[in-house]
Amino acid sequence: MPPHLIFVFLDGIGLGLDDESKNPLAALSLPAFETLAGGQRWNQSARPLAQPDLVFRPIDANLGVEGLPQSGTGQATLFTGVNCAALAGRHYGPFPHSKTRPALATENIFKKIKALGLPFEEPAVFTNAYPDRFFSYVDRTDRWTVTTRCCLEASLRIRTHHDVLDGNALTADLTGAAWPQEHPAITPITEQEAGQRLLTISHNHAFTLFEYFHSDKAGHSRSMEQATLVLHALDRFLEGLLSSFDPSRQLLIVTSDHGNLEDLSTKSHTRNPVPFIAYGHNASQMASVTDLTDVTPAIVEALSG
Ligand SMILES: [Zn+2]
Repeated sequence: MPPHLIFVFLDGIGLGLDDESKNPLAALSLPAFETLAGGQRWNQSARPLAQPDLVFRPIDANLGVEGLPQSGTGQATLFTGVNCAALAGRHYGPFPHSKTRPALATENIFKKIKALGLPFEEPAVFTNAYPDRFFSYVDRTDRWTVTTRCCLEASLRIRTHHDVLDGNALTADLTGAAWPQEHPAITPITEQEAGQRLLTISHNHAFTLFEYFHSDKAGHSRSMEQATLVLHALDRFLEGLLSSFDPSRQLLIVTSDHGNLEDLSTKSHTRNPVPFIAYGHNASQMASVTDLTDVTPAIVEALSG
């Protein structure tokens, strides 16, 4: 049986220098992050690992294209396996570049996983919920993000506040702290509970994706205080996710689209490598992932059994 695969996509986290003055990932003690790197902090001096149940390695996000990697082309590459920066002729973002639309339509990871014919009612899910104002925004502007466009192209339902209430979706900020303003019935949860919820949701699917972008926002802020809040929140989320994770039946993938947060000396993205982590069932199969284009094919292969 293929594993239940959980993909946690963290926007804007690269592997930077081991310099506590500008790299919060080098400065902070983050126990769950360190567990996923074999007891190491996430920076360029961490040793790559390729163990049977844990792979931790830097991968390239520059894709042979000059300039600073951006979210639109980086995420489109990550979620299709096609070099979308090369297709667009440049790094572009945060929304998908028009030249990458065909790749997002035909090659996206949800579509590929659905085509495997795995015995699940919903083989692939995107667990982020969107508030009503997102749907009125896209109705008006047609500006879908990479992942929501992938959902449309693969006929995946985009989750709403109803799913949050049912415990069947996560909010982008993990806790839902900002949601009661628009959706008063929602009660915020802790980050640990959000991690446990993601794990519970994953039991019913072959592939469960969650995306987190506050890491990129914190990088743009250049604020160590903001970075510290975000990284501690993420660490509690990962702790909750790992607390009852079963590495013999589940596989966790964590990676990013480009660097940013690991270098607070600049408010822009970086050309640093990004971390790639595979933890759990047959993780070592993923040891040959070397850049963003390799992630979708490796996931599809792992789920093909
Ligand atoms: Zn990004």
